[in-house]
Amino acid sequence: MGKIQPAKAVRNKIVSRRYRRIERKIYEGSELSDHDIFLPLRFNIPTQGLIPISESRARLSLPPLVRSYFGIRKAERSMKNNPETPFRFIDDDELLEFHHYAHELGVNSMGFTKYRDGNTDLTAIVITMELDEVHVDQSPSEETYQELVMTYHNLGMAVNKLAKWLRQHNFYAHAIPPASASLDFTKLAESAGLGFHGLNGMLITPERGPRVRVAAIMTTIDNLPLSKDNLHTWISEYCATCEKCVDNCPGDAVLSTPVVEEGKIILNLDQSKCADQYVESSGCSMCLSRCPFSHSSYGYLKNTVDGND
Ligand code: SF4
Ligand code: SF4
Repeated sequence: MGKIQPAKAVRNKIVSRRYRRIERKIYEGSELSDHDIFLPLRFNIPTQGLIPISESRARLSLPPLVRSYFGIRKAERSMKNNPETPFRFIDDDELLEFHHYAHELGVNSMGFTKYRDGNTDLTAIVITMELDEVHVDQSPSEETYQELVMTYHNLGMAVNKLAKWLRQHNFYAHAIPPASASLDFTKLAESAGLGFHGLNGMLITPERGPRVRVAAIMTTIDNLPLSKDNLHTWISEYCATCEKCVDNCPGDAVLSTPVVEEGKIILNLDQSKCADQYVESSGCSMCLSRCPFSHSSYGYLKNTVDGND
């Protein structure tokens, strides 16, 4: 990524300062004035089929949720614009155009997976957006924090624009901006074949490692090319020999021995400790900057697991 232009840097600073002030108030339980913000409406997205997020996760989600506040509000309000009788099939040209548009909006990768909402089968269009490597490497710092703020903001805007595009083409769309506390985005992205979770609980992608944020759009289109297999499960083998995020986490939040219930790993991360550190140190993100997947190529690291290196 190129150097940020001066005018953009000033704008980022102003936006992130405002968000930081609001975040702190919420985190510390202070009253918000009308001048600050009014809290977004909760999304009516059930979590069947996905691991429900815990209370502590919801707490962790709060600061970024505020950052993507405008996107969340817009997504909720635009639901009324859905077509009454949406199309269920998208043709190849339209899908290609959709991909191109997403790319123009800064989307790095896109995948599709089924998502059950009560008795309704939906398709989740899952997208990722990159966090700039230079700014993540400066973690923890004001620059890292600004990068997080702007990525949540931009990704929230991107899912809304993509949902609008779908509606203009007579498809149903429900945008789910990043950090909406009603979905486990890492699980959803895994299911869409976009990567696999690392020890720190973050999605690791082949293109950008863990330096991404995830969002989704729910639709009723039936013929999107769904992911069949997840080719990235080997990442857990690499994590078992790495543990750099455990060693470098200033909040001791990443667990080398995960919490297991009924034989299933449910938690690699102490969400509460991470949230405290996040607020204390400018969005922290040390586990992203220290992760080998942020700097080395996916193929190279895979070779080390396969024994080809
Ligand atoms: S963001 Fe910071 S506190 Fe949270 S897990 Fe990563 S390194 Fe630890
Ligand atoms: S730092 Fe190492 S253990 Fe942690 S997520 Fe990255 S590869 Fe896995």
